[in-house]
Amino acid sequence: MSTKTIAGISRPGTPHFVGDGFRVHNFIPGTSTMQEMDPFIMLDYNSRYSFAPSEIPRGVGVHPHKGFETVTIAYRGKVEHADSTGSGGVINEGDVQWMTAAKGILHKEFHEKEWSKKGGDFQMVQLWVNLPARYKKSDPKYQNLRNTDMQKVALPGNGGEIEIIAGEYNGHKGSASTFSPINVLNAKLKKGAEATFNSPAHYTTAILLVEGSAKVNGTDIVPQDHFAMFNRDGETFTIEAVEDAVVLVLSGEPLQEPIAAHGPFVMNTRQELVEAFDEFNQGKFGYLED
Ligand code: MN
Repeated sequence: MSTKTIAGISRPGTPHFVGDGFRVHNFIPGTSTMQEMDPFIMLDYNSRYSFAPSEIPRGVGVHPHKGFETVTIAYRGKVEHADSTGSGGVINEGDVQWMTAAKGILHKEFHEKEWSKKGGDFQMVQLWVNLPARYKKSDPKYQNLRNTDMQKVALPGNGGEIEIIAGEYNGHKGSASTFSPINVLNAKLKKGAEATFNSPAHYTTAILLVEGSAKVNGTDIVPQDHFAMFNRDGETFTIEAVEDAVVLVLSGEPLQEPIAAHGPFVMNTRQELVEAFDEFNQGKFGYLED
């Protein structure tokens, strides 16, 4: 197997607010296009940020999604959500919500009420995973992946662990079901520990340094809150923690289908986008109270 090398390392750009509760740096598409990052179409990263206490929870009110999945990874803080299928709940620290918007959903995302009253450090990733065309019109659903239920693979010598959110690591499988081959891992590495990752050459592969800094393939330093994109040149790479580190590792097989995207709708053709807006305007995504 040959080494998968780094194509580029991006620093976190100027943050912007999504609603009033998510202060994010956008890394996907970022300087790339959705096609280049296929099947990952969006990644917003709320780097560690302290929110003042608020009696009224901050967040994003009712809004639609159609044609893809939203994956919310809570590193610090808690998010409360509700959607038009009647589902809802709290994403606690360490948990992941994997929401399949598919044929259309309305939802809202806010800081959890009690957490909001106290405020504090908030850190989160929202990743959008595109759906293959044949699944874009399937029923919405969501998977609440609790940290305690996640598959974790211990590294030798107390080097830390690999938490498998989706896909697999060294033959161990994560619990999230996905519609195309995708690996989403949290590598929690102790200072000096090194882990090896395999990902087919043609997969889209990237990492985000959520905590600490790391050295990739023994040469490239990726600092905290930076995002590194890999070339499609090899199948294996290593990550070594320069200090205690948490690294989000993403890899996925490109869908290689046309993308027609506008705001919260990601379809295959312009006609489908027009239909998505019509459906939304006609209330076909259901109802959700503000
Ligand atoms: Mn949303």
